[in-house]
Amino acid sequence: MTLRRLRTALVPVLCATALLPALTGCEPPPPAGGFVARHEEPAEADRESAGFLKRWKLVERVTADLNAYLDVPHRITVVARSCAGEGSGYDPGTHRIELCYDDLTEDRKLFEEADRRPADEALSEVVRETLHHEAGHALIDALDLPVRDEGRAEEDAADRFAQLMLLRAPEGDHALLTAARAYDLAAAADPTPDLDDEHAPDPARAESHRCAAYGHDPARHPDLATPARATCPATWTATRDTCTHDLTPLLR
Ligand SMILES: [Zn+2]
Repeated sequence: MTLRRLRTALVPVLCATALLPALTGCEPPPPAGGFVARHEEPAEADRESAGFLKRWKLVERVTADLNAYLDVPHRITVVARSCAGEGSGYDPGTHRIELCYDDLTEDRKLFEEADRRPADEALSEVVRETLHHEAGHALIDALDLPVRDEGRAEEDAADRFAQLMLLRAPEGDHALLTAARAYDLAAAADPTPDLDDEHAPDPARAESHRCAAYGHDPARHPDLATPARATCPATWTATRDTCTHDLTPLLR
């Protein structure tokens, strides 16, 4: 028996006897499939954002939403961590979604400077949108959809997945509109487009989210009605149907 196997065999005994309640080995093993939430210890500068994320249980809420809707056969770990400026993203090699604490710090600053009040609520909505966008990448990978590795097309599809997931939830349109505003604020703060960025430019992503929120329920958003958005209800229906169809193999 290898050391590793011996340790695995001992863990239940130790846990059952509760000799060492703080023993980290007593944590149950993560499930083999589905989205799994994890928080890593933050770097000193990220403590506030890490604490916020834990208190608001955002990673747990989003993974629960995803698992209630989808049955993914392999594990996709959603890990909140200090990434030293790397940026949140999905890694197909490890099936990991990384949410960076410093992205939250940046978004909080944008909202608090614009609104001059605490941005907890807005930040929670932006985080939900970010996590659903990254989950979109993970699902495109899991389903091997044609847009996989297709740069901008994959990014747009991940945004549409975030729209689908948020608009399934009762106040999800609000979250989508807050995320749209975050794109506007980011564009205003840094108007130079990043040519290496495969995502659509921030103003286009903002408009896509507004069009989806309006198209999903025009009567609820009369303030968003413009002649240019007259096609949004049809666009939304097509988005919803295409996304749902693509996800069919994984739907519960
Ligand atoms: Zn992306």
